[in-house]
Amino acid sequence: MTRELRPAPAVDASNVVARATALCKSYGVGEARVVALDRVDVAVRAGELTAIMGPSGSGKSTLMHCLAGLDSADGGEIWIGDTEITALDDRELTRLRRDRIGFVFQAFNLVPTLTALENITLPLDIAGRRPEPGWFTRVVDAVGLGDRLGHRPSELSGGQQQRVACARALVARPRIVFADEPTGNLDSRAGAEVLDLMRLGVDTFGQTIVMVTHDPVAASYADRVLFLADGRVVEEMADPSAEKVLERMKRAEGAR
Ligand code: ADP
Ligand code: MG
Repeated sequence: MTRELRPAPAVDASNVVARATALCKSYGVGEARVVALDRVDVAVRAGELTAIMGPSGSGKSTLMHCLAGLDSADGGEIWIGDTEITALDDRELTRLRRDRIGFVFQAFNLVPTLTALENITLPLDIAGRRPEPGWFTRVVDAVGLGDRLGHRPSELSGGQQQRVACARALVARPRIVFADEPTGNLDSRAGAEVLDLMRLGVDTFGQTIVMVTHDPVAASYADRVLFLADGRVVEEMADPSAEKVLERMKRAEGAR
């Protein structure tokens, strides 16, 4: 994979799309209580692909779900742009999710009765918005499905389905896209095609994307990797390579 080296943008408030401060979340009570997020501070920079890594159970999905307003936090603040989502009621949150957030799930979550094209336009249809014609064409072209756009998900490969799901997340031009293990169900070739599409979203559409992964190769597509352990961000890596990430994972494994 060839990729232009870009200078890392400086972190200043205007450059941050999503921010969490002192984010706490636990599940269960008493003996069964599990602290999933333990005062997490994170800032997601605009126009970057940020990867979140960490052992199973370290809080990756919980962090994503809280940042995306799909799950509520117990304490701390979350901001998407200049909106504090931890202060919104359910109706406002639903609206913010619809208008400003895209989500890509490990299991694709396409609507089986709709064609690929209908799946891509679904969020716009629900919001009563028309696709911007030039933009829509670019996103659909980037998916690279050609004449299979009229097919239903069951007639597409896993990689094709996930590319449709990425396009569905990108087409509404959300402030931020969250992807939880988007390549987790794919072989390496199909995974690479999905990662290329996300990279294109960032590099040519200026999209901001946060992706959870446990795969060092997937993480190498990111501009920055945040490592979680036991509900905390323990390390940050700029300009990751698969080798550097693998080495870091081995070190963390050895320290356990
Ligand atoms: P990861 O995505 O890194 O594997 P999660 O965010 O899913 O981690 O989970 C973090 C911790 O919270 C784990 O110990 C997990 O068992 C626990 N947890 C997550 N979701 C729930 C839930 N709905 N009920 C109870 N415990 C949960
Ligand atoms: Mg998870």
